[in-house]
Formats: sequence, C-alpha cells, structure tokens
Amino acid sequence: MSGALTGPLSDRHVLVTGAARGIGAAIAQRLAAEGARLTLLGRRADTLATLCQSLPGSGHHWVMADVADEAQVQTAFAQARERQGLLHGLVNNAGQAESAPLHRTSSALWQQMLAVNLTGTFLCCREALPDLRAAAGLGRIVNIASTAGQRGYAYVAAYSAAKHGVVGLTRSLALELATSGVTVNAVCPGYTDTDILRESVANVVAKTGRTPEQALAEFAASNPQRRIVQPAQVADTVAWLMGEGAAAITGQCLSVSGGEVM
Ligand code: NAP
Repeated sequence: MSGALTGPLSDRHVLVTGAARGIGAAIAQRLAAEGARLTLLGRRADTLATLCQSLPGSGHHWVMADVADEAQVQTAFAQARERQGLLHGLVNNAGQAESAPLHRTSSALWQQMLAVNLTGTFLCCREALPDLRAAAGLGRIVNIASTAGQRGYAYVAAYSAAKHGVVGLTRSLALELATSGVTVNAVCPGYTDTDILRESVANVVAKTGRTPEQALAEFAASNPQRRIVQPAQVADTVAWLMGEGAAAITGQCLSVSGGEVM
C-alpha cells in the first residue's frame, strides 16, 4: 500500500475488472502512474500477477473472479477490501464481443453477452456502492461500454444490446447517486487495437477472403479520423473521469471514437 506513486489519484483504491490485457491493462498502467492503489480483477492468475508486478508504484493486488458469477464477485470485492481498504473507484472494463447474424444467435450466445457485459457491470457496481458512497465525494464508477452502446452495428445484436444496457444502467445509477458524491459515467470506445479487434479481423478474413490489412482498413473506415483507437487513449479518458476535476460530470457517455458518434 505504501509504495504507490504520488499523483492526482494518490491514496485512491481503484478496482479494474478485466484488467489482464487490452484496454483494461492500459487503464491499470495509467491509473497506477497517477498514484492509485489498484486491485486488478480477472480470470487468469498468471497474467494478473505479471501485470501487477509491471505497474508503476508498488502495493497493487489482484483478485480472481468471473464478473458474471455473483458469488465470485462478492468474494473478490471482500478480498480487495481486506487487502487495500475501502474502494474509491471502480472501472467496469471486463467484456466479450461475439458476432453472429441474429438468426444464428443461439440463446446461449445471447445470455453470455448479457451476462458478461451487462450483468457483470451491475454486480460489480452493486458490490462497490457502499464503499463509493463513503468516499467523501471522490467515489467514481467508469463503465467501459462501446460505440455499440450508442448506435447499432450489423451482426452484433447481442453485444450491442448488452452495451446499450450498460449505457442505460450508467445514466440511471448516475441519477440515483447524484447527491451522494459518486459519479457514474460510460466511456464508449470505437474499434480499439486489442485482441477483440484482432479476432474480428480474423473473422472477416476467414469469411470473406480479404487480407488482414484490407479487413483492418474497413474497420478504420468507420472512424471519421480513419484511425483505430489505441488502448492508451481510452485509459486517458478514464483517468480524467477518475480525477477531482471531473466531479461535475455524471451520467455521460464519452465516445472515444474519432467522431464516429456525435
Ligand atoms: P480483450 O483484450 O479481449 O480483454 C477483455 C478482458 O476482459 C480480458 O482481460 C478478459 O479476461 C476480461 N474478461 C472477459 N470476460 C470476463 C469475465 N467473464 N470475467 C472477468 N473478466 C473477463 O478486450 P478489450 O478490447 O480490451 O475490451 C475491454 C472492454 O472494452 C470490453 O468491455 C469491450 O467490450 C470494450 N470495447 C472494446 C472495443 C475494441 O474494439 N477493442 C471497442 C469498444 C468497447 P481473460 O484474459 O481472462 O479473457
């Protein structure tokens, strides 16, 4: 606990879900660099332990849980509190994105998308709430939704429905907590350079015979800036929302998407 860096988030205990790789790992790096004490939550002990050791500062911890499993989430939050004290912030980043046309979307796939992306966010918010209310105006929830929570995309109805749900949860909870000193916001990345995008590119290549470069260019073409978002750009937005300067921002969806949604 004592080895965290001094910075705008010094002495804040923040839990990041799905922290082992991709956007979650970038968020962890950024929040640790700003002085936060982190609890990384995920499903793989080896990658969580490695990331924990590589973070700026020291005294960070990790806990294991599938965010869709109520009992595992309760246990993980209890462990986080026991090791590092009450939480000041929660970043709901864990997510999965499976694609299928609706007529081939099985009930299992539908339930899986809702369970991980939406129910997981609900369970973690509920578990963190007593701590965040006690954080004397510094309580923060940031939900990593998606531009798929702000607009539709073909072939990802289940994922998009779940992410629209995350946006609805964010707005309603923000109102519920508006006078409590806890802010609740969503960050909505466009296509971002992580394993999720690499898997989507591989899918397009397999189904269409396009080259990986052509497939990636198509994803970038949906972004007015013609860019693939970098995980660090999402992490910067999260770090800003975590800070004291963002105290008047709540119930918002910040689209980190080069102008794709406005
Ligand atoms: P990623 O590289 O696939 O990482 C996803 C992370 O979530 C992994 O650490 C994974 O853990 C964890 N996770 C998945 N299911 C989980 C579960 N049931 N319980 C706990 N952890 C779980 O994906 P990413 O691109 O960084 O995505 C992070 C978030 O950004 C997601 O919510 C995603 O929907 C959102 N997003 C991504 C993009 C994009 O283009 N990449 C765009 C918009 C929004 P394991 O290592 O154990 O699998």
